[in-house]
Amino acid sequence: MICHQCQKELELKKTYFTYLGHSFFTDILTCPECGEVYIPEEVVKGRMAEVEMQLEDK
Ligand SMILES: [Zn+2]
Repeated sequence: MICHQCQKELELKKTYFTYLGHSFFTDILTCPECGEVYIPEEVVKGRMAEVEMQLEDK
């Protein structure tokens, strides 16, 4: 993955999310130059599904 603006290779960076009052970290591709993030939808959905499953367990 390459940043369109900077033509730099994106780096994996731990990024903090909150969803349904829960917070979690996940590795997200980020441009080291401008900080632009690339979030694959399936990653976000996967993590959110995990959070939802944890909620249902209770
Ligand atoms: Zn960039």
